[in-house]
Amino acid sequence: MMDLKGKKVLVVGLGKSGLAAALFLRHRGAQVTVSDVRSAEALAKDIPALLEEGINVEAGGHGLLTFRRQDLIVVSPGVPLNTPELKQARGFGLPIIGELELAARFLKGKLLAITGSNGKTTTTTLVGEILKDAGLPTLVGGNIGVPVVGLIDESSDETWSVLEVSSFQLESTEEFHPTIAVILNITPDHLDRHGTLENYALAKERIFARQTVQDFLVLNVENARAAEAAKRAASQVFWFSIERPVEQGAWAENGHVIFRASKGGPAETILPLSAIPLKGEHNIENVLAAVCAARLTGAPAASIRGSIERFHAVEHRLEYVAKINGVEFYNDSKATNVDATIKAVTAFPGGIHLILGGKDKNSDYTLLSPYLRERVKAVYTIGSAAQKIESHLRGVVPIQSSGTLAKAVLAAAAASHPGEIVLLAPACSSFDQFENYEQRGRAFKELVHEGRDWKVWQNA
Ligand code: ADP
Repeated sequence: MMDLKGKKVLVVGLGKSGLAAALFLRHRGAQVTVSDVRSAEALAKDIPALLEEGINVEAGGHGLLTFRRQDLIVVSPGVPLNTPELKQARGFGLPIIGELELAARFLKGKLLAITGSNGKTTTTTLVGEILKDAGLPTLVGGNIGVPVVGLIDESSDETWSVLEVSSFQLESTEEFHPTIAVILNITPDHLDRHGTLENYALAKERIFARQTVQDFLVLNVENARAAEAAKRAASQVFWFSIERPVEQGAWAENGHVIFRASKGGPAETILPLSAIPLKGEHNIENVLAAVCAARLTGAPAASIRGSIERFHAVEHRLEYVAKINGVEFYNDSKATNVDATIKAVTAFPGGIHLILGGKDKNSDYTLLSPYLRERVKAVYTIGSAAQKIESHLRGVVPIQSSGTLAKAVLAAAAASHPGEIVLLAPACSSFDQFENYEQRGRAFKELVHEGRDWKVWQNA
């Protein structure tokens, strides 16, 4: 464990995890500076608390000298690692790590880390519930909105820290070493930052870079790029599959979730698929991954079953909002990439009015075509990606340019008939029109609830 007393540490980026890292470092006796490109006004709500703790704050850009006089640089996940300042600091040989890596050096107990392009939050939340219900000392954090450094003081040698980790966080890890690592899937996302799918996949593979033969890696047989990671793993690979039995791991067969702890060993039935209270096949995959990871911690099968039966969809993940005049409304604002939107669309048999758009991430929307043709009656586009989406989907389904979410909800509701679905699963990030996907999802839910008077829609 590193001694931070008197060390000069720079925290780059004052997001949730940057703030938590700065406070943690300060409380351990480091001389901390926080630097962010955003203006002092934009950071106003956090600055007083930082100054009060004796933390220096540099707002509105990074001074080159700021990066020189440090013993350690801690980078927030939102900051790309190839900025000129960081490149130069690396040139000077300064150690550069992320908040996850910093935390990993201090956390006690074992780590169970979950990554993937989609399903991280759902699976992390579910595994956290399962371990807690099984009576294991459990902490949950990471990309899920709870900075990992915040868990350190509560952790003990018996703790399981269940961590959602993103490719951005994994990019800057070195010693991060989970006992159980899960890669749910690897599908195109964040290509605006990682450049190629391969770079993005390699960042995700860092989750098992430090694992040894005593550790476990849980992979999805049905996702080619995730499964391929097994070739490079030193750990024991466990599989999950929605299609077929696996040698060791979890699978779905004859309407049940099954787990096998070792090659040739007995298969145990965990629960019927019909007892899973989540929509869509992708959520069965999340449950399979969760069952496998949880069994590897020693959580008993019966307890796992109960936890799954009690689980609810996490907010903004294919979340049921309301049924109005026979039309069901679903909020999947967290569907911020093409694959998540495909999963949302295939969770319903048809009759979907789909709201798409937001900020493009260099995505290929033509991949949606076969699924939309089968199940979607009309698409309503919003945000800055609208034109690109329209050009990719022209001729596939009827498209209406709505511009704003409010107009899209009104138009979709007005056009839909009893038994149909209005679905927000936008395949884009939200930053062009909203602060984040949560705000977009809440706005959608409010619009739906405000519009309960069906007549209002019919006159729209
Ligand atoms: P993440 O934390 O990886 O973004 P979430 O659980 O928040 O994952 O879900 C993000 C989006 O992906 C939601 O729209 C959700 O419905 C969808 N999704 C969840 N699990 C999967 C999966 N296994 N495969 C594909 N899409 C998924």
